[in-house]
Amino acid sequence: MDQQNCARSLARGNGKEGINSCHPRSQEALADFVDSAALGLHWVAPDGTILWANKSDYEPLGYTAEEYIGHNIAEFHTDGETIADILQRLTRGEKLVEYSARLRCKDGSVREVSITSSVRFDETGKFLHTRCFTRDVTEHLRVARALRESEERFRMLLAGVKDFAIFMLDAGGRVETWNLGAERLYGHSAEEIVGQHVSELYTEESRREGCVEEDLSTASLHGRHESECERVRKDGSRYWAHVITTALRDSDGRLRGFAKVTRDVTDKRRAEEERERLLQELKEAVAVRDEFLSIASHELKTPLTSVKLNLHALEHRTEVAAGKTEGEGSRKLMRIHGQIDRLAKLVNSLLDVSRITANRLDFHLEEVDLGEVLQDVLGQYKEELDRAGCSLHLRTDTGVIGRWDRLRVDQVVSNLLSNAIKYGPGRPVEVDLQRLGRSARLVVRDHGIGISAQDQERIFQRFERAVSIQHYGGFGLGLWISRQIVDNLGGSIAVHSETGLGSTFVVELPLSGPSRG
Ligand code: ADP
Repeated sequence: MDQQNCARSLARGNGKEGINSCHPRSQEALADFVDSAALGLHWVAPDGTILWANKSDYEPLGYTAEEYIGHNIAEFHTDGETIADILQRLTRGEKLVEYSARLRCKDGSVREVSITSSVRFDETGKFLHTRCFTRDVTEHLRVARALRESEERFRMLLAGVKDFAIFMLDAGGRVETWNLGAERLYGHSAEEIVGQHVSELYTEESRREGCVEEDLSTASLHGRHESECERVRKDGSRYWAHVITTALRDSDGRLRGFAKVTRDVTDKRRAEEERERLLQELKEAVAVRDEFLSIASHELKTPLTSVKLNLHALEHRTEVAAGKTEGEGSRKLMRIHGQIDRLAKLVNSLLDVSRITANRLDFHLEEVDLGEVLQDVLGQYKEELDRAGCSLHLRTDTGVIGRWDRLRVDQVVSNLLSNAIKYGPGRPVEVDLQRLGRSARLVVRDHGIGISAQDQERIFQRFERAVSIQHYGGFGLGLWISRQIVDNLGGSIAVHSETGLGSTFVVELPLSGPSRG
């Protein structure tokens, strides 16, 4: 009779039979109850024969009642000594509680069990049978063993880490665990430091400044706190530590303590300090150089201007005195003029460098006819073109007028043209000026030595050159200054070139001038 029927028959109150058939005293109900017990139950005779057992005792092992009951209990134990010991102790009248044993299943596998057992003796003291309660603890033991192993592995991992100090603090900041890395880093052994307050590891100053409390309270507030600071070793020496402090909370959110992972970053820190020092030195050296450039170019310019003026005066007087404008003296004077102009250009470039570096490149914006500027420059370079054997092919649009700085634009055109002559002697030079919508486009093309692809961006940098000083003189400043000028006017400068075939420089300038100006 199942539970529902039993309950119904009780509810109907239909007599004794209903009550008796549900009552534990009913044989059937009792047998059912015993068979379904969560424990294995059996009786064993003094010689070990299994006299009786419930289903929960043999079925989980894979046996039928026939294969189990009537057999000797020793057949089912993997360890003969264990069952012998059990029987001996029971015979002596001992009660066994949670006695560990291993039983063999029908399929050969083994189950771990915990046995609680005693003997039922009759009034004469005769061993009637055992009363064994067997609990299968295989799964329980497996989980406990796995947990122990995992804890052990974790403990070994922490203990074995040598490059990091890994340790735990209780909620009050006292050291609870200490790994090998911590011992190596701080010099304290676990025995010495466990139980001490973490402030032992801080410097005197940081303790005074309240860093200990601050570190822990920040970690507690945000869950984690990361810092780089000095720490003290057992011998009093200091090192730079990178420390991560993590607050440890239980499932109810209660603060249980802190985990600290510390790494020695002294070397990294020293390298950073050294880098910082070198950078500072470099900045100072650059500043000294720039200042020198600025002073030197100013100082050079003054006597140069005076030499030029005196030369003019001398030239005039010589010519007047000689009554002629031609002759050897005059040619020599012309050459001196040329050299002085060259010197003046170099000095001006140096002056520009210091102005650009100091952000003092001034622009005087006005309406400028780029065609006119181009003609002026070509006029200045006519002799040089002739001397170099470069034929000039010019194509210009008229009325390419924009808001620019005349002298600066002149400087860019001069620079491109002088480079075309310098790096492409004996070859034609083509100059093309066009108005393209709201921009002016100036193209200077030569058929000279060209520039390799990897050098094409570099040559616009300060002091960068793609040729050797033995073959071609120069400072490597012209293109850098040109780019600064063009940039300041809101335009662009680019080069297209192939080694040995020549170079084409393209400058584009918006007619409206720089947007901010
Ligand atoms: P510099 O000519 O005084 O060296 P620039 O700044 O004018 O300085 O030019 C930088 C470098 O770019 C030159 O040293 C040269 O290697 C390269 N370069 C410039 N213009 C040309 C050109 N037209 N053809 C070939 N190389 C050039």
